[in-house]
Amino acid sequence: MTWQCQRVLLLNATYEPLTVVSARRAVVLTISERAETVHEDDDHLVAHSEQLAVAVPSVIRLRHYVRVPYRAQVPMTRAALMRRDCARCVYCGDRATTIDHVVPRSRGGANTWENCVACCAPCNRRKADRLLHEIGWVLHRLPTAPKGRHWRLLAAVSDIDPVWEQYLAA
Ligand SMILES: [Zn+2]
Repeated sequence: MTWQCQRVLLLNATYEPLTVVSARRAVVLTISERAETVHEDDDHLVAHSEQLAVAVPSVIRLRHYVRVPYRAQVPMTRAALMRRDCARCVYCGDRATTIDHVVPRSRGGANTWENCVACCAPCNRRKADRLLHEIGWVLHRLPTAPKGRHWRLLAAVSDIDPVWEQYLAA
């Protein structure tokens, strides 16, 4: 892999995850001392320019805190929903491969955090377009929208570098 393909997790000065930037942007931020490396890339990629060689970081942190406008709702994506439900079917606990609308879309159910759950294919088929009480199923926990900045990132970025996990914990 070339270092240009590397993506870098950008943290605020408070270690709060902000976004994912390109390696080029991360190197510029560190060279200009606007950010510092928190975690170096495990593959020890090195960025070369005419004058210098810089170790490509995996996680960087801004030296000065930036205020980020607060947005109430984390956008719902498939990846983030699977993460919220630990990729387990909320009905039977098996590995989830699909998303179920608790109130089916055909019956007015919304595509929201509160109405969507991770689901295995057999349960999804069995439930079809019926309501839970019609088939005697219950939700053990009411689905809710996750809160916190790292969830915004999880919703926006589909493949999370395992190295970043420790910085994404609530
Ligand atoms: Zn299931």
